[in-house]
Amino acid sequence: MAQDDPRRLIPRTDQLMGLSAVRRARERLSEAVVRAVVRETQRRARRGDLAPEEVEPAVLAALAARSASSLTPVLNATGVVVHTNLGRAPLSAAAVDALVAAGGYVDVELDLETGTRSRRGAGARAALLAACPPAGDALVVNNGAAALVLATTALAAGREVVISRGELVEIGAGFRLPELIESTGARLREVGTTNRTHLRDYAEAIGPQTGCLLKVHPSNFRLEGFTSGVDVDGLRPLARAHGVPLVADLGSGLLTPDPHLPGEPDAGTALEDGADIVIASGDKLLGGPQAGLVLGRPDVVARLAGHPLARAVRADKLALAALEATLAGGTAPVVSALHADPDRLRDRAERLAAAVGAPVVPHDGRVGGGGAPGVPLPGWAVRLPEAAAPRLRTGRPAVLPRVHDHACLLDLRCVPESDDDRLLAAVRAALAALAASDPGSGDGDGNSGSSGSGDSDGRAR
Ligand SMILES: *Cc1c(COP(=O)(O)O)cnc(C)c1O
Repeated sequence: MAQDDPRRLIPRTDQLMGLSAVRRARERLSEAVVRAVVRETQRRARRGDLAPEEVEPAVLAALAARSASSLTPVLNATGVVVHTNLGRAPLSAAAVDALVAAGGYVDVELDLETGTRSRRGAGARAALLAACPPAGDALVVNNGAAALVLATTALAAGREVVISRGELVEIGAGFRLPELIESTGARLREVGTTNRTHLRDYAEAIGPQTGCLLKVHPSNFRLEGFTSGVDVDGLRPLARAHGVPLVADLGSGLLTPDPHLPGEPDAGTALEDGADIVIASGDKLLGGPQAGLVLGRPDVVARLAGHPLARAVRADKLALAALEATLAGGTAPVVSALHADPDRLRDRAERLAAAVGAPVVPHDGRVGGGGAPGVPLPGWAVRLPEAAAPRLRTGRPAVLPRVHDHACLLDLRCVPESDDDRLLAAVRAALAALAASDPGSGDGDGNSGSSGSGDSDGRAR
């Protein structure tokens, strides 16, 4: 390197690591993370992207922006309430407080009165039973798929699971219910046809080899036309007559009926109709943490809880804490978003639109997460040029819009009203960056390429 090479002036690693602001960052971040930030900034300077005197401020700015987790909070402007790619349900304030409290040592499996071991997650269990009175007992596991695996293993391994061909669905990327069930060593006994299954189909299949009858809510799949099936109510006498447990996998599972979603099954009704146990997810319409819920008859729940596999799928203290607080705390964000008042959504959209000179258009949100497929949630969206989408996604705060029909749509249904100002700032910044990169165009595709194109409404699960 020549004497006058400016790269000689790039601050050395030990110099930068010794700065007091950098040492303070070590309280939040590991040594490895801090060193990586320093090295990367030096590399940029060696490439000529930064002047030597810019290295120190760049290191400090990068450290200030860096948190220990790489997960970036996102404002969900898609209108899809349970958005799997965004972690499904955002937690309520009560659930977040409970998570923080459970971060330390907690009495998740200890009776503080007696000092002896207690039933794990008793608080979450009690909250579930209070929220769903028809349930005699409850068990919480890691997620809905784990609850289904545990149920079929405990009730039907080496035997048969009787299920309608119309319910052998694929639910999310790579999640095929029949494959999951067969992985447990249970055999599928498929009955009926894809579009029609009758009670006599079940009756002919049931016998000494039957481990359980399974009803599956097909979630994001709908069958229309010449169809028929047998609901839980209709299967009850058959299951009782043969002494075979009747299991209902509700998927997004409400605990009680929601008048806004008349087609969506709920746990309380399914149990009253005769299901011995129901299975549901904690992070879909319930609006809680990832969890698998098993609710129902105490002797059947006990067979699941007592199976060795239950230990492999048990819920952790954080999920138990957040689940209990979701049930006992104020309205969960998922519930508020589902029931948002369209007039209020319009007012908010118009305020944002007026501030940036964009139009407001009617826009239907969705439940997502396999809930209420095809049921629109009427609302409004601010319409921006499509090229704003990648700027919004990579801005701070990050904003995920819906890209549809060559437009970037912002639906405020799932944005907390308290974040409206942050959203406006993010939109202004994105539009300003767009104008700066492409001064000729006030609209249209700009230069941002195709990274934001395609429909990204996140309905896939
Ligand atoms: C979502 C879903 C599952 C899986 O639940 P996870 O909590 O995602 O594991 C199982 N069954 C049905 C019917 C579902 O909709």
